[in-house]
Amino acid sequence: MAIEKDPVLVWFKNDLRIHDNEMLCQAVATGFPLVFLYVIDIRNFEMLALGFRKADVNRAVFLKQSLEDLRKNLEKIGGHLIIETGLPEEIIPKFVEKHSIKQIFAEEEYAWEELQIIRNIESNLNNKCELIWIWGKTLYHIDDIPFSIDKIPLTSKAYRIPTGKNSEVRQPFKDIVKVNSFKIESSKFPEFKDLGFSEAEIKNAAPYLKGGETEAIKRLEYYTFETELLTGYRWSRNRSLGLDYSSKFSPYLALGCISARTIYQKIKHYEQTVKKNQSTWWIVFELVWRDYFTFKGMKMGNQIFMTEGFKKKELIFENDTDLFARWCKGLTGLPFVDAHMRQLNQTGYMSNRGRVNCASFLVHDYKTDWTWGAAYFESKLIDYDVSANWMNWHMQAYEIWYTNPIHQSNKYKAKEFIQKYIPELAEIESNLIYVPWHENADGIDKNGYPIPVEIFKKWDRSINLILKSLDSEK
Ligand code: FAD
Repeated sequence: MAIEKDPVLVWFKNDLRIHDNEMLCQAVATGFPLVFLYVIDIRNFEMLALGFRKADVNRAVFLKQSLEDLRKNLEKIGGHLIIETGLPEEIIPKFVEKHSIKQIFAEEEYAWEELQIIRNIESNLNNKCELIWIWGKTLYHIDDIPFSIDKIPLTSKAYRIPTGKNSEVRQPFKDIVKVNSFKIESSKFPEFKDLGFSEAEIKNAAPYLKGGETEAIKRLEYYTFETELLTGYRWSRNRSLGLDYSSKFSPYLALGCISARTIYQKIKHYEQTVKKNQSTWWIVFELVWRDYFTFKGMKMGNQIFMTEGFKKKELIFENDTDLFARWCKGLTGLPFVDAHMRQLNQTGYMSNRGRVNCASFLVHDYKTDWTWGAAYFESKLIDYDVSANWMNWHMQAYEIWYTNPIHQSNKYKAKEFIQKYIPELAEIESNLIYVPWHENADGIDKNGYPIPVEIFKKWDRSINLILKSLDSEK
């Protein structure tokens, strides 16, 4: 009887794909039988002191879809996915012991909380097993950029230009067609109720996109060669309505259902065969932003989660919990902000324009600690990414000017989007939808839609322009 060799563990985290996964390729190259594991960290679904879960139900559903797809794709090449729920620092050492595992392959972590967990795992493993970390998140490999992490520049331009000049994006890895799998049965995603979700939460879950590598690859094909939407990206990217104005790659990138290099390779092919223009340049520019925030976030460490941030600027926050609750629920009385917040609550997604406006409004108008808003986005976003979320919030709080939500709603002609998410305003035919409280000058909210707690002087010019445009419509 043949004796099976001790297996090697492939620990999936935010790299839920078979294609272009260096960690997986290196594990396969060992020639040892492989065990594939994903650990659902139960802490992710706990309630925070702010009154919401660290990760809400849409995120859980998107994760489930992505893991089910990974399981199917692994089975096609002969592998089996084990899903465990609990604390990784307890589960991994027990699993290693049980299956006599001597090596673990995993994608390298970069953010503070995850690094703490890794340290605890290493300490619990007590040198009984070797951990092999492989970098995988970014478009440019961490070893190829012309900066060490402690020297990452403070402006994106100072990062982007030398990187573009001196570094190359690596080619994606070839697809794996067969794995030598350890004999073990695949397991299923747990019941949502076992993660702490109520029936009502589960019933209302409706993520904006379906998770998984298969969907990610389909979306890439759709946005590029199938529809050529990419050609217009530069001009459509600031909209909010529907799926087609921007790529929607972010949820797939966040869980690693697709690699940034695979997207890049497709864009380069598109440039050669369909069109090379400002749009194809711009989308790569955004992927480079994503890299920049990852590397800069690594440099700043846990300061990116702190109220004073890494700029250490003085902002006085009033932290009115009633105002924060209004903002979370989409009941501020500012239609552009509320429509986006309601979309986030229902679907787990919000456009970049929406994120900028909602963040700026919470920090600069409601004078609320930006870390509360960042935690709320973390809870809801199906594309939640540590550095993209916290670094963008930090930027809205400390690094860029105020964004005027009234001006923006008019500039981006968001009427249809607003009416989709705020049915109370469905009857308003004109641009009045951007400043609906003028219908309620007596203070009575006749649409059942709230009046803002304060109408700031700094909005006067934008409000007057909208009202003037109504006169010319008459
Ligand atoms: P596209 O416009 O099609 O862009 C293509 C890709 O480029 C995106 O998928 C994303 O990976 C990357 N990208 C684009 N803009 C940014 C940016 N500003 N910063 C970093 N990467 C970017 N993005 C996340 O992926 N996860 C988050 O948790 C997140 N939180 C945010 C919070 C705030 C307050 C703000 C202002 C922005 C945040 N973003 C976040 C960035 C951006 O809003 C989303 O990446 C984008 O809206 C996703 O939609 P898309 O894939 O269609 O983007």
